[in-house]
Amino acid sequence: MFDCGEGVQRQIIKAKTGFHKKMKVFITHMHGDHLLGLPGLIQTMALLDRQRRLDVYGPLGVVDFLECIKKTVQFSLTFPIEIHEIEEQGKICEEDGYFVETIRSNHVIHSVAYAFVEKPRPGRFYPNKAKLLDVPEGPLWSKLQKGHQTELPNGRIVKPEDVSGPSRPGRKIVYTGDTRPFRQLTRFARGADLLVHDSTLDDTLTERAEDDGHSTPSQAAKNAKKAKAKRLVLTHISARYDDTSVLLEQAKKTFDNTVVAEDFMKIEIPLPEN
Ligand SMILES: [Zn+2]
Ligand SMILES: [Zn+2]
Repeated sequence: MFDCGEGVQRQIIKAKTGFHKKMKVFITHMHGDHLLGLPGLIQTMALLDRQRRLDVYGPLGVVDFLECIKKTVQFSLTFPIEIHEIEEQGKICEEDGYFVETIRSNHVIHSVAYAFVEKPRPGRFYPNKAKLLDVPEGPLWSKLQKGHQTELPNGRIVKPEDVSGPSRPGRKIVYTGDTRPFRQLTRFARGADLLVHDSTLDDTLTERAEDDGHSTPSQAAKNAKKAKAKRLVLTHISARYDDTSVLLEQAKKTFDNTVVAEDFMKIEIPLPEN
């Protein structure tokens, strides 16, 4: 979960994502609309007897915030919470299939952006090649399919590249959090399949956006274009816009593959082939 605003529990219930799953929360900065959902979320998880560890990542201050809640609000935790205060840019967590990176963004207070990066997937598996090399069907096939070399009963070593095509790239999602446009984003978001970008105010309010540490649709679109992102999602839209089509139009002038984020929006990101 990237940022955790108020109302998150209600949204989780509506979206039927559940409170017991493996989960990591990534906070971009210490403004209320990005983290005040955490105390309630944690308490509800405890009430529901969650057992699994919850990982929370965030900038300096996130430890104090959660410690203060634990000390002052009376409830007992049923699960461990591991809080990771981000001190440096770069890779902050790594799991089997993916890693998450951060970079400093440019808001009115210290803030970071996140990239969720899937690791490359093993190449396409060719059963015929495996048969030709006398690899018996079964566990050895799946070992090779997962990208591990394997030893045959006759002692011969078969490598994944002997029986499969080149590895295929994973997907990349970049979430800017609240930010003014900043130069380093181009490299950070390079080739992202999805760039979720601050677009609080429309282009006619560019100065105001600058003062408040936010971006406009054109600025978000320029960043998407420079980074060669495949798709752009405008988010953190000010409540002043009943109709968001004005923002969409402004962005589309520069970057056509754009949508405005909506509650419960689902976006399918196809796995890229080579
Ligand atoms: Zn903010
Ligand atoms: Zn905000």
